[in-house]
Order: sequence, then structure tokens, then C-alpha cells
Amino acid sequence: MADKESEFMLKALELARRGAGLVSPNPMVGAVIVNEGRIVGEGYHLYDGLKHAETYAIEMAGREARGSTLYCSLEPCCHYGRTSPCTDALIEAGIARAVIAVVDSNPQVNGRGIAQLEAAGITVEVGMYEREALRLNECYFKYVTRGVPFVHGAVIYAGNDETAPDEWKPSQEFLRMVSEYDAVVLGCENEYILLSGPNRALIEACLSRKRHRPPVIAGTPGALEAINSFSQAIEETNASILAITDQPEGDPGEAGVLKDEGCVGAHLRVRPDENRSEVIDSSFILHPSSFTVRPGLAEILRSLARLHVTSCTILANSRDRDMLGDLAALDKLTLILPGTNEREAIISMCKWEDLVIGLDGVEYRHTGRYTEMIGYPRESESH
Ligand SMILES: [Zn+2]
Repeated sequence: MADKESEFMLKALELARRGAGLVSPNPMVGAVIVNEGRIVGEGYHLYDGLKHAETYAIEMAGREARGSTLYCSLEPCCHYGRTSPCTDALIEAGIARAVIAVVDSNPQVNGRGIAQLEAAGITVEVGMYEREALRLNECYFKYVTRGVPFVHGAVIYAGNDETAPDEWKPSQEFLRMVSEYDAVVLGCENEYILLSGPNRALIEACLSRKRHRPPVIAGTPGALEAINSFSQAIEETNASILAITDQPEGDPGEAGVLKDEGCVGAHLRVRPDENRSEVIDSSFILHPSSFTVRPGLAEILRSLARLHVTSCTILANSRDRDMLGDLAALDKLTLILPGTNEREAIISMCKWEDLVIGLDGVEYRHTGRYTEMIGYPRESESH
């Protein structure tokens, strides 16, 4: 039975993943209902479908839900949001046992869903594939517990050749990952990559995903010039643009991103037809007194959180990475290293002494003359 149970939970996790990049700020959830060893119901959350995974699974199971076991990738909700609580629906459907991968650390739930099920006489077990379930919703968990977005830092390690960073062609997996986050932050100041290559690839990935709420593109006015050629896609997706600069007299530049005198950052919407931008919420304007140097990561994350951004990718390169601050404090990293194999890639990293960092759960992807090394900074494992 144990193997069968693993199978059912893995199925629930797989179903949950179908909501990747679509459900934010909600978590991805998958649910499987099993009666006498047979799957009788399954479901997953897609924000637009409104209903939660458990509801779909209960509906599919019908009368067979009575006396069955639920396998769910996350603790069922117990509060009224856009829908009524899943715990009520599970109790009413007559579920006998619930196997839950992980507690929902959202302060509105945080064990109360489990308590309600138990109070109704349902046997509850928690922790099967907990690690996988935590990883699956890593952005959600950080956002609901800390109030700031999950940060995926992408750092391009420049080679000896000055123009090298531009030659990195992101892998499909990298672009998919970027497209699943709510925002991109264009951190690169390097002129080689401002207007072409990586910055553009990031914008394209961010705009490529059809989602229920607009993505956010943030960057310095210089970096945001790269958005000019995406005006149609920006209009279609209704993307928000967040300008970040330390220039009080902020030259709007080609992108027309900063109009208000005295502001150093603003939440803007691009009006491509009129070839200008407008400030859509002046409360997002950060005044020069807010900081004395270019806004750091903390300020940027606070601004993004106010836009309800739960996750973002920040791009920087090894010659200009101030915006990223301490790499070890980031949640996830993709190091983009010159080299066609792991050994060459690690040698490339070691050329940048202050950018040598240990990662856990490392994966490598080779793309052209570059290797992408993806993992979790070791020092951040504890938070
Ligand atoms: Zn629910």
C-alpha cells in the first residue's frame, strides 16, 4: 500500500504543477481521491476556473467520495476567499482520511484546515513528499510568510571577451522558469546586453504566458528601453512597468518611462499608441530622499510586493551586479557561466572571486558556449 500511496501523492503533485505560472498569488494545488485503491476523482487549481483542486476531485468522485482517502499537495483551505472553504466540502462529501503533503503556512490557514478535518472525525496524515511540496510552492510560501517576493537571481558571468554576455542564448527550461514568475527585473547596465540578447529574452518570456493578471517588468530607464519593441505584447498583456532609478530629474529616455519631476521610481503603464507612458499610481513614486544611492534589492522587492508580485527573476551580470546584493541572500540562483561542460563552467565562476557560491540541488544545462548552473544558495537554506 505504501508504494501505492506514494503514487497517489506524486499524482497530486503532478496535477498541482499544471497551475504553474497561472495561479499566483494563489498556491498550486493538486488533489486525488481514492476509493478502495482506485482513483475516483482528481483535480487541480487553475485560478481562472475559480474552484479549488479538492472541489474538482469531490465533484468527479461523486458518491464514491464517501469513505474515501484524499491525497492533497497542500493543506486544504478553511477560510472564505473567492470560494467557500474546502474543509467544509471535504467533510460534507464524507472523506474518511486525508493525506496532506505540507501544512499551508499562510497565516489564514496554518494548521487550522487540518484541525477542522480532525474535529470532524477525518484521519489526517501530514508530510508525505513534504520537501517536494515545499519546493513546488516555494514562491507562495515565501510571499505569504515574509511579505516579499521570492527572488530568482540570474547572474551572467562575463568571459574574457567583452561581448561574451550577449552570446548566451537562454535554454528553454530557463525561459519557462522565468515565464512562471510574476515579474522580471532588468538589472543589467552593461550596454552589450541592455537592448539585445538576455534582457530581451527575459521580457519575451515574461510576456509569453497567458495569465489572469498582468506581469510586471521592472528596471532602470536604460534597461527599460528594451521594452520599446514589445509595445504590442505589453498592451495585450496589460503589463505593468516599474521604473527604478536614482535620477531625481529622471530622463524618461526613449522608453518614456519617467515623467514626473522629482520621482525616482514609478508604477507606469506604457501607452504605445501615444508613444508615452503614464503614471497609473503615484503612491508608487519613490522620492529621492528615500535612498541616497541606486535603490537596493530591498527597496525593489518592497515596491514589487505592493504590486502583489509573489516572485521575480532579476538579471545581472558579473560586471554590474549591485542590484542583486549578497547572492547568498537570494532564494534561487541561475549562474550563467562560460563553458561547455561542468568543469569549464566552474573554472569560469572561480575567476570572479566574490561571486563564488555554493549551491544545493544543483542542475546543469548546456546552451551554446554557456552552461546554466541552477540551485539554491547554501546559506539561505535556513530561511
Ligand atoms: Zn481550498
